[in-house]
Amino acid sequence: MARLAYLIEDRGINLDLPTPKDFSLKAQSPDYLYMPFLEKQGKGYQGYMTNFGKTCEPQIIWLEESIMGKSAKINRVRVPAARGGTIDVKKGQYICVLDIEGGQCTDFWAFDRKDFDHVMSPVHFFIDAMRIQPKVGDKIVTNRRVPIVTIVHDDVGWHDMLVPSCDNLRYEYHYGVKGHRNCCDNFHEAMSASGKDWGSRPVPHPFNIFMNTFVKGDGTLVLRVPTSMAGDRLIMQAEMDIIAAASSCPMDLNETGARGITDVELLVSDSLETLQNVKI
Ligand SMILES: [Zn+2]
Repeated sequence: MARLAYLIEDRGINLDLPTPKDFSLKAQSPDYLYMPFLEKQGKGYQGYMTNFGKTCEPQIIWLEESIMGKSAKINRVRVPAARGGTIDVKKGQYICVLDIEGGQCTDFWAFDRKDFDHVMSPVHFFIDAMRIQPKVGDKIVTNRRVPIVTIVHDDVGWHDMLVPSCDNLRYEYHYGVKGHRNCCDNFHEAMSASGKDWGSRPVPHPFNIFMNTFVKGDGTLVLRVPTSMAGDRLIMQAEMDIIAAASSCPMDLNETGARGITDVELLVSDSLETLQNVKI
């Protein structure tokens, strides 16, 4: 904090810009500080401060973690290639699905933390939104027709909600391959690993983030190579306390996995800006 004050006082920086509301800086620093992004570095955060063409060059400053407040913290879960993972999200928090290398179809599920029979349901979204392709601003509803997440950021703009999660029979019946890794097993493994008892419930219908399906005018379904690039992300805001789960889809036998099967990340924060700017 002393270093921040020193920089501002000594360099005579005078920035006429708002302080982002997500950062608890007002009590300790001038309101005119603007932070385009912050990155965790050791005990603190490295931020880039700019005056946007006014009287000084952009400055790099350090902020102690203690002045960041809770809002900018990130809970980050790495989902390894062809595996699954889960993360808890409180109502109002943001959940980000981050494609690390690009081109990775990610089966995503969300359900009520207090009631595992209450799940995100893409088919109910279809008739709720009268579309089969979700967009920023859409609320995805549950099997009880109440919003569970709202899409607030989308770098790709094209996903899939039609195709069920792959299971062992998908590989066996359609490709003649037995024992292939699959998203349904990944879901169960991830739930077990995090101590959650899914019981005998079926795996919910997924939101296939970064999957590039297309429906022709005659109804034919076409699987296309995903277009997401490294660092692309889709961010949702939770409308209730949820558990989110994701699988790095192991499908390597068609266009869906044509760019290789790679890691993804699940990130949760109170701050949308933090998730929008977090680096791979
Ligand atoms: Zn899959």
